[in-house]
Amino acid sequence: MTARILVVDDIPANVKLLEARLVAEYFDVLTAGDGYQALAICERNQVDLVLLDIMMPGMDGFEVCERLKANPKTSHIPVVMVTALDQPADRVRGLKAGADDFLTKPVNDLQLISRVKSLLRLKTLSDELRIRAETAHTMGIDELLRSGEGRGDESGQVLLVDGRANSQERIIKALKPIADVSAISDPQAALFEASENPFELVIVNSNFDDYDPLRLCSQLRSLERTRFLPILIITEQGDDEMVVRALELGVNDYIVRPVDPNELVARSLTQMRRKRYNDRLRASVKQTIELAVTDPLTGLSNRRYLDNHLSTLFSRSMARGRPLAVLITDIDRFKQVNDTYGHDAGDDVLREFANRIRSTVRGADLACRYGGEEFVVVMPDTSPEVAATVAERLRSVVETTPFQLKSSGQELSVTASFGISSRISSVITPGQLMKQADLALYQAKTGGRNRVVAAA
Ligand code: GH3
Ligand code: MG
Ligand code: MG
Repeated sequence: MTARILVVDDIPANVKLLEARLVAEYFDVLTAGDGYQALAICERNQVDLVLLDIMMPGMDGFEVCERLKANPKTSHIPVVMVTALDQPADRVRGLKAGADDFLTKPVNDLQLISRVKSLLRLKTLSDELRIRAETAHTMGIDELLRSGEGRGDESGQVLLVDGRANSQERIIKALKPIADVSAISDPQAALFEASENPFELVIVNSNFDDYDPLRLCSQLRSLERTRFLPILIITEQGDDEMVVRALELGVNDYIVRPVDPNELVARSLTQMRRKRYNDRLRASVKQTIELAVTDPLTGLSNRRYLDNHLSTLFSRSMARGRPLAVLITDIDRFKQVNDTYGHDAGDDVLREFANRIRSTVRGADLACRYGGEEFVVVMPDTSPEVAATVAERLRSVVETTPFQLKSSGQELSVTASFGISSRISSVITPGQLMKQADLALYQAKTGGRNRVVAAA
């Protein structure tokens, strides 16, 4: 799908110019002649990026940007401010207003297209994470984004890879207000540093005598631990070819020498903010996924996870010709525990029962709370004989040591019944495997409880 870009400028000729360049790159372009119109368009349409002029009558670009960023409906849209070359202070003000990037007039084609593409790439990632997180966790995400706001301007951790001592010094000085900079002149050592430490940005200065800086960039992109680490490259004036190749490799942004300290600060801040935002989203998605597959009372996997994962374990055991065993256990007369000691005491017993399962089975086994007081353990590479031994051990671990109730400190004797089944040639589906274990459990119950029965 083509990205939709809104161009905002009060001078029609400027709008036309940018529009023509963007359309030539197959972007879908909307236009606005003032700030009010721009806000209305962003509110009503799906806009992927805004190119925003600063000097406009009525509402200027700073205010438009602030309003876009303050509105939850539009705050995720990247904003690129278009500033006059002779007004460097505008860049800093723009970033304070929440702008994601800026371009200077007259707008250079390479800069326009590369910055737009790089922001759109970031937005695609953020959107995907945002949607996933929102779907599962509407409440959590708002809280999460708000909780992270304070971190926006905390001192960042930057790794500077630079072949020259004097330029290292200048860059460290420029970044001092926003970041702690570790400088290093050996690119291979830098790769190691970057993967071992929690940096939030790597700045690569392309000033090595006999080393291609893009090699380092490409290595940073391919290592698992540095894959999401933003890279900013400093290039020679006019070396467009390197910029294009760097951006293709996944370098996030670039600066042309001589380095303007304001621009360096601005671009570094933007990259670090983006990283923090995306890290938070990623963490929330991970947390959401964990919540979705975990039983909150016992911390074991839940039934949903079992239902999905059992078929994977099953196919794997088929493919490798290895055995697979399933154990289902149900606490005996558990209703009486609730009736006699109360529901909280029942919960204590369930938690402790889960702990005993956890400490009895191997790490490779999948232990789940299947529902109520019923638990399932799936054991890969386990023969029927070994499965029977495990079940017997667990039965004994439950019976032998009384359960302590946290609430009252009372001790309680608990027993459980067990059914086991194994994948043998006559069993063809995971469902049937479960069913056989369940039937065996039923026999254990009817046969007097506190025992293990293996499916015939
Ligand atoms: P049996 O030996 O035949 O399994 O008898 P039982 O009493 O264990 O079985 P039954 O299925 O009649 O009762 C299960 C009880 O487990 C009823 C239900 O209230 C209780 N239960 C289910 N989930 C929870 C829970 O999360 N916490 C507590 N405290 N009790 C639960
Ligand atoms: Mg029971
Ligand atoms: Mg039951």
